[in-house]
Amino acid sequence: PPPGDPVLVVRGLSMHFGKVAALSQVDISVPEHGVLGVIGPNGAGKSTLVDAISGFLPRADGVVELDGHPLTGSPTRRARAGLRRTFQQDRVPPGLSVGAYVRFVARRRLSEPEIAEALDFFGCPPSRTPLSRVDVGARRLVEVAGHLLARPRVLLLDEPAAGLPHEEHVVLGSRLRQVPARFGVSVLLIEHDLDLVRSVCDTITVLDFGQVLASGPQDEVLADPAVLKAYMGE
Ligand code: ADP
Ligand code: MG
Repeated sequence: PPPGDPVLVVRGLSMHFGKVAALSQVDISVPEHGVLGVIGPNGAGKSTLVDAISGFLPRADGVVELDGHPLTGSPTRRARAGLRRTFQQDRVPPGLSVGAYVRFVARRRLSEPEIAEALDFFGCPPSRTPLSRVDVGARRLVEVAGHLLARPRVLLLDEPAAGLPHEEHVVLGSRLRQVPARFGVSVLLIEHDLDLVRSVCDTITVLDFGQVLASGPQDEVLADPAVLKAYMGE
């Protein structure tokens, strides 16, 4: 696509759980080689958004387009089309080394130097380290490295900083900021830490009760009185 065109576009996305409208007519757009932040109070629908985009909620209504083409079908099919995601909960299979986990996540052939370079970029322990000796926060970064080495078009990150000590948020932010240029991957970042969002995101969409409360350049959105009110109310 031409520079500046969005790589991932979502229109009119809706998802109900019984009487709960987890998402109501949500529109979002991830900039090509940029980072969209999605923020909002607990229960706002952020994880549901990631689930719906990545194909884990086939009952969701609405349109998802990747590079102008409809993105449909199972999560595996959407991953093959270039859309990958992380989960809020840890999903690490037991008994793997760091390098084996990277390969497990990427699901493709990777050279050892390629893996080592990506691990180094994120400050992760070396490839041969048993995952059981890596803490939760670092394991999440190993997972991110694996996804990026699969060279998707877009990576959806659901609260990657959760479980990391606050001082590591800054390091994570500086790394994520470089992901589009370094890996050629656009990012949708769901995050609670507004300082991290501020340091990483080009544009921001705010969800509240399943609806888009505000959307646009980060400086405008974070100065929006309605956004501040939603956060104070949390
Ligand atoms: P967030 O990630 O922003 O904290 P979620 O997307 O997890 O919010 O949840 C949005 C709303 O949908 C909440 O009211 C939550 O209770 C509800 N919800 C999410 N997943 C399910 C589910 N599998 N079944 C029933 N309700 C759900
Ligand atoms: Mg969530």
